[in-house]
Amino acid sequence: MDRYAVIGQPVNHSRSPRIHAMFAAAVHHALTYERIEPARDEFEAAVALFRAQGGCGLNVTLPFKERAYALADQSSTRARAAGAANTLMFSSKGVFADNTDGAGLVRDLRLNLGVTLKGARILLLGAGGAARGVVGPLLDQEPALLVIANRTAARALQLCEALRASGAITPLWLSHCQACGLEEIPKGVFDVVINATSSSLNGSVPNIPPSVFGPRTVAYDMVYAQSTPFIEMAHNLGSLRAVDGLGMLVEQAAESFHLWRGLYPDTAAVLRQLRAESV
Ligand code: NAP
Repeated sequence: MDRYAVIGQPVNHSRSPRIHAMFAAAVHHALTYERIEPARDEFEAAVALFRAQGGCGLNVTLPFKERAYALADQSSTRARAAGAANTLMFSSKGVFADNTDGAGLVRDLRLNLGVTLKGARILLLGAGGAARGVVGPLLDQEPALLVIANRTAARALQLCEALRASGAITPLWLSHCQACGLEEIPKGVFDVVINATSSSLNGSVPNIPPSVFGPRTVAYDMVYAQSTPFIEMAHNLGSLRAVDGLGMLVEQAAESFHLWRGLYPDTAAVLRQLRAESV
């Protein structure tokens, strides 16, 4: 049977094995999907061993995404823009690296939530790995404005500079992108506010002006939990739609599955099942 796995440190909490098992069952593909948790300095050796044993592909999570990208012989434009990979595919041609996080977010927003991104004013909070992975795919949707705001303003500016240097995004779309600190967010309501910070994991929220939220703002927390401090804040400030990142998790997995297996599974059914299981 074809072998796949998620590799990271830690991965015992990962929902990827469950998601890929559901995808495989739905499309009648026989495959295995395991967890690999190498020591920090043994990532490359663990990838090489998995490949030598006939492994077909890996999902990569913290803290190895940049090192996964560095291993690749070839990579997608979106992996180059991110400078990081969450998906590796092995073949006789070598190692191919992709980054499906941004496509997963865009698919969740557009297909599952019905959000129009073309012409939208989008506020992206954070400048870590998650933010970096989604900027290119968000700009591909041709928003009117994409503001990247981070607690440490310098990291937001560096993120934009790295994107420019990667050559993966056209200068036209980079001109729709602004980087700043949280206290410098441009005035006015945003159509979409995405929390790509890890603040919800430690029970806090980014210190942003309440005026970014209006009744029609879609607030999106990449953290997946039924409710998060960010979701509560958005509701309290008048946003009627505030959602977590479980849909992004399922959709990025579907993008990886598509790369490996050549078809998209029915993500809506899997998302419904995961929501039911977490009640
Ligand atoms: P990271 O590289 O560690 O970056 C963390 C970011 O959060 C930085 O921008 C940091 O700002 C900011 N931050 C942390 N605490 C904050 C606070 N209290 N107030 C304001 N900003 C704060 O993490 P990451 O890899 O980007 O991941 C971010 C989140 O996205 C995680 O919770 C992760 O679980 C989630 N994620 C979800 C999916 C999905 O499929 N749903 C995929 C990827 C990631 P500074 O630069 O100022 O420190």
